[in-house]
Amino acid sequence: NIHITSILDRLKINDLNDAFSIGSAWGSSNDTTVRKINSPVDGRLIASVKMATAADYDHVVKTAQQAFAQWRSVPAPKRGEIVRQVGDALRKYKDDLGRLVSYEMGKSLQEGWGEVQEMIDICDFAVGQSRQLYGLTMHSERPQHRMYEQYHPLGVVGIISAFNFPVAVWSWNAALAWICGNVCIWKPSEKTPLTAIACQHIVQEVFKANNIPDGVSNLIIGDREVGELMANDARVPLVSATGSTRMGKAVATAVAGRLGRSLLELGGNNAIIITEDADLDMALIGAVFGAVGTAGQRCTTTRRLIIHESVYESFKQKLVKAYGQIRIGNPLDEHMHMGPLIDTDAVKLYLQSIEQCKQQGGNFVVEGGQLSGDGYESGCYVKPCIAEVENHFEIVQHETFAPILYLIKYKTLDEAISLQNGVPQGLSSAIMTNNLRQAEQFLSAAGSDCGIANVNIGTSGAEIGGAFGGEKETGGGRESGSDAWKAYMRRQTNTINYSTTLPLAQGIKFDL
Ligand code: NAD
Repeated sequence: NIHITSILDRLKINDLNDAFSIGSAWGSSNDTTVRKINSPVDGRLIASVKMATAADYDHVVKTAQQAFAQWRSVPAPKRGEIVRQVGDALRKYKDDLGRLVSYEMGKSLQEGWGEVQEMIDICDFAVGQSRQLYGLTMHSERPQHRMYEQYHPLGVVGIISAFNFPVAVWSWNAALAWICGNVCIWKPSEKTPLTAIACQHIVQEVFKANNIPDGVSNLIIGDREVGELMANDARVPLVSATGSTRMGKAVATAVAGRLGRSLLELGGNNAIIITEDADLDMALIGAVFGAVGTAGQRCTTTRRLIIHESVYESFKQKLVKAYGQIRIGNPLDEHMHMGPLIDTDAVKLYLQSIEQCKQQGGNFVVEGGQLSGDGYESGCYVKPCIAEVENHFEIVQHETFAPILYLIKYKTLDEAISLQNGVPQGLSSAIMTNNLRQAEQFLSAAGSDCGIANVNIGTSGAEIGGAFGGEKETGGGRESGSDAWKAYMRRQTNTINYSTTLPLAQGIKFDL
């Protein structure tokens, strides 16, 4: 049992009368609407939150713009020091915040804590990065000239996040955006506002203690309409949006219409290729965790297994046996493998997808279905299921955000790679093999076309040190590690003439 009131108390979010926060100040217009938040875990009403209006949004953007004028001039390592303190504050609240993530979103407690750990990790990463916002120096073709490049902040960064990683994705963006000198406006998923409100309180304590002006960290509670305002707003030079491909196409079109920048992290349709040379026990753990972890609601969830014909039947039997052992129930109970879907609409989509799969010729070797009875009162619990399919089925080409795993048989590795690449999405991919040639072919230019390609690891569970994101309909954005920080800055090329003449480039003569 979760003592939600005391958790909300410790996270200081008992008072939910506000639709936005610009930092120490919270507020909302009089004409806000209210949204009820029920936990998918037990169906209980956790809270009612207010949804921001267009006027609220405008107020937040104006405050953010004012704060940017100051924050951009704070030296980057000093900004990093603030982010270091944010990481420490998250350490302090890790237990409670992880529990709230689990209760509000429905992922297992271990994954809830893991999500907060990811936030701590990206803060640590950003602290180091704050001293490494490097540009290059170049040799000028003109005598007594120096040429170099430097990176400056962009301004207001809009962050639109999805329900399935309700807090981590925000922190990947915010920690880097802040050390780069930007201010952030976060619009979390309307399905998971409480964890966002908790994060804003945690961050605000740090900003306030350091006398940082309001407007560097902003939160706005709202649905797609607030996201649309952001996408169309020329005052927001970068919109980082995580969610469905449908949402990403709408955001990309609106942002491109004003020639702004978007950073898109959209849906996946991830596959593991299991070769005849795979360690099948390892492959089994990778496949089952990848398919049922977070109840199949990760962007990197394993949706397809592409299995060599020689091991297909034996691996299928192993999978069926493993699925028989999966314990489904309250995700705060650490004995459970799988919790609920986010809401009953998601359950409907899952059931529809199973029907469509059957109509298109899918053969279910583990049947799905909604669970009811003791412990399943919220109506959000479903059975993870497995279907034998062909890659070209319409339903297989589509990301169903639920624990439905598709099995596909192959003969040659060329064929397996072509099946793996033969979907519109391009996020995560993996090969299970002990054969070096197979692994290298999979990683080569003629191999996986995804943003993430793993060997002997499943498709989910990325570390923050690498750049995260994918190709094709996944949107092309990269967040988190490596040089992802560059997305949050504008590059400026500087040439300085320290001679007493003004020679022109390319030897052009221009005499007066
Ligand atoms: P969603 O697209 O329904 O909503 C995501 C966010 O976008 C929400 O905050 C929503 O309010 C907002 N939004 C919706 N329509 C909008 C519009 N037209 N303009 C502006 N904002 C809009 O997605 P969801 O159901 O919350 O999340 C699941 C999806 O997110 C899956 O497709 C999953 O693969 C994807 N996802 C991708 C990544 C990644 O890094 N690639 C990470 C997490 C989730």
